[in-house]
Amino acid sequence: MRICIDIDNVIADTFNSLIPLYNRFMGREHTAQEVTETMRRNRWKLLRYYFMAWRRQIMTKIPLIDGAAEAIRDWSNDHDISLVTSRLPLFKRQTRQWLSQNQIPFHELHHVKELTKHEKANGCQLFIEDNIRECEVLADHCERVFLVDHPWNRQAVSKPNIVRVSNWQEIRQKF
Ligand SMILES: [Mg+2]
Repeated sequence: MRICIDIDNVIADTFNSLIPLYNRFMGREHTAQEVTETMRRNRWKLLRYYFMAWRRQIMTKIPLIDGAAEAIRDWSNDHDISLVTSRLPLFKRQTRQWLSQNQIPFHELHHVKELTKHEKANGCQLFIEDNIRECEVLADHCERVFLVDHPWNRQAVSKPNIVRVSNWQEIRQKF
């Protein structure tokens, strides 16, 4: 089976680990919902934020989400694992380093723009993702899409093959 998996907030606990830095850089507190919005609106400021993050190599220091690495290691023996992230290509090297440090096996790693992940999802039976807009697109290209529940994606989903899951234990049960 071909399985595609997003990295941030699916394998890596990115939001919880970077929100203090993000708030400090932006100069005020943001809720999870606001981060998604400000990320879409303040492109230039965001580029400076990413550059600062890149210089501090923060992508190499993000903690794992519970159960993610174990599940991917188990699956990688029998399945084809593609990691598909919308992290900027700037973070390619740090992302590879982080994956290797955490012993996460994968066959392919793609950095693509938001809402274009389906271009890398050929023949993908299962896609695991936390961006609800991305999930809606992916549902037309993959047999099943697991939407990992977070405060920023609590809207209703419109397609029957999108399944909301709360953690890796549940992902393994429904797999
Ligand atoms: Mg994500």
